[in-house]
Amino acid sequence: MYEFAVTPAVTNIRRRGVEICEVLPESLGAEMELESGDRIIKVNGRLVRDYLDFRFQTAGETELLLEVRKKSGEDWEVELERAEGEDFGLSFEQIVPRQCANECIFCFCNGNPADARPSLFIKDEDVRLSFLYGNYTTLTSITEDEMRRIVEQRLSPQYVSVHATDLDVRAYMLGVDKARADISSKLRRLLDAGIEVHAQVVLCPGINDKEVLDKTIRDLAAEYPRITSVAIVPLGLTRYNTDARLTRVTPEFCRDVIDQVTALQKELHAKLGTNFALLGDEIYLRAGRRIPARSHYGDYPQIEDGVGMVRSFANEFGRLVRKLEGARLRKTPGTIFTGTLFAPELKRMIEKLNSRFGTRLVVEPLENSYFGGDVSVAGLLTGQDVLQARERATGEFVVIPKQMLKSDEAIMLDGMNLSAVSGALGQPVHAVNLQELTALLTI
Ligand code: SF4
Repeated sequence: MYEFAVTPAVTNIRRRGVEICEVLPESLGAEMELESGDRIIKVNGRLVRDYLDFRFQTAGETELLLEVRKKSGEDWEVELERAEGEDFGLSFEQIVPRQCANECIFCFCNGNPADARPSLFIKDEDVRLSFLYGNYTTLTSITEDEMRRIVEQRLSPQYVSVHATDLDVRAYMLGVDKARADISSKLRRLLDAGIEVHAQVVLCPGINDKEVLDKTIRDLAAEYPRITSVAIVPLGLTRYNTDARLTRVTPEFCRDVIDQVTALQKELHAKLGTNFALLGDEIYLRAGRRIPARSHYGDYPQIEDGVGMVRSFANEFGRLVRKLEGARLRKTPGTIFTGTLFAPELKRMIEKLNSRFGTRLVVEPLENSYFGGDVSVAGLLTGQDVLQARERATGEFVVIPKQMLKSDEAIMLDGMNLSAVSGALGQPVHAVNLQELTALLTI
């Protein structure tokens, strides 16, 4: 009954089939005379809703009948035979995310400035994006159709925001009633079907910490290895979050959480052979504690959630530095800007680089003036933040973290583009990842 109530409000109305965006020359798609703008409606009589459906319905098939709605409006039936695994040479439109129907008290969308880019207000809750990109869903509004699809198409792993296994607490945090907050049967169904689940907890002081956190970790660990890991990340509040129910995360809070979870990790490691519950890097950095060693993270199951990213970066940095031995390096002075949280760690690494190779790089922390509050990660910095620190941009070039840009465009969260920032600073600004930084330094 609740699905009837929720689904129409959150499902995107869209045209049938999936649209082709690109056809590679001399590919199977080109041979079939498919073009960009055509829509594939059915494969072997089965409806196609998106490119995941196309991938699933064509997998392993060598004889295919495609129903295509041409860009011109004509309907085609295309029969083809292909060698096993032969690629179609087609690219498809992106998946339009399904929207969530929760009102989480900590939702980042509530902390956006009113003029933020519309994409920052998208509350996606989509099991397809969970499978493809590791986006978290709460499963509160998952439909029967989606549930069946995960199982049938093996959309595994799934990343699930659990927050608390205490139902009252979960319902309170998600802003939904207990019936919707209760995902125990849905979770069980996924696990019984062999779908791997990674869980997440957004830790809110005074709400789902202490005993609630202890219970959550233990309840989830009881499902190991079907639930593979739980990431615990701290609540992040911008200056626009004014909800009186939320308490800011402090260094003392982080130290208490580390002590609590470290003890649990020891216990779980002895029992399961894995730490299972992994704390976000932000918790160690804010606490002023050392980031754990590589072995702590196993195969980094939730690195995209900021769990183990700093350790992985530091190890990768060490490897790259070793590779630089004997290389000719640029000795011109430059400034590296990064978020205030990571800056001390990066400063240590760059100072080692400078003293070993004679490079002249300075790390400068950038305050986040756009979001304010305790937002201190590099990925949420903006062009305005860089410009506000212009007097600290010494040397002949500036480096900023690549995460500050949109993945497909040199534009930042406040709409400024890289060349405008560079023009305003009067020096080149390079948005790079670690590999690109070393390439930039090498002559
Ligand atoms: S599920 Fe995610 S997007 Fe939806 S309200 Fe909660 S935090 Fe926001």
